[in-house]
Amino acid sequence: MVKEQLRARGIQDLGVLEAFNKVERHKFVLPELKDSAYGDFPLSIGEGQTISQPYIVALMTECLQISPSHTVLEIGTGSGYQAAILAERALHVYSIERHEVLASKAEALLKELGYGNISITAGDGTLGWQEYAPFDRIIVTAAAPRVPLPLLEQLRNGGKLVMPLGGSFGQILTLAEKERDKITYRKICDCVFVPLVGKYGTKVNN
Ligand code: SAH
Repeated sequence: MVKEQLRARGIQDLGVLEAFNKVERHKFVLPELKDSAYGDFPLSIGEGQTISQPYIVALMTECLQISPSHTVLEIGTGSGYQAAILAERALHVYSIERHEVLASKAEALLKELGYGNISITAGDGTLGWQEYAPFDRIIVTAAAPRVPLPLLEQLRNGGKLVMPLGGSFGQILTLAEKERDKITYRKICDCVFVPLVGKYGTKVNN
């Protein structure tokens, strides 16, 4: 996976590659999908949600240029895989998941794997997590037409946020950078994510 899907496609950050070598992806997928855990595609994790393709997880992590002093906010814990990759690079990861079942499953797994630097809560991540703000880095692993305002507010100056922006059928992975309270946006690539459902997210009823 690391050699053929990540390095061959241009992921160069040694810290990111090291994290992928360390975190065992098969532990984060449904038991019946274990044989496909390292495949070049997203996989179902239950509740109608998916764990992203390894390359996209790596690309988003690389874009954030995380250093060991950083606190990171993740919206969309899902299986907890992306949170584990982030936790290998950062000081602390705060992660919010709207499906309570997924949140508690990920929390139990990450605890079992020994991660002491990940905090998970169930709720609407489009509101951010004010208690621990501001964050050095923010990653949103679900799609909406624009970045939720509370997340831009909870991003530290000098901080970076990565998120898929667009409608339900396709989005553009976008890197937002905040300097002196001004946000600039950079397009990374086309992508397809599940919708970010919440007050400042995509308006759908599910
Ligand atoms: N990062 C995950 C994959 C996430 S899939 C992993 O590594 O496995 C996107 C997740 O975002 C889904 O689990 C979905 O339930 C969650 N989600 C959607 N809208 C949300 C919101 N407003 N707040 C928190 N989580 C949300």
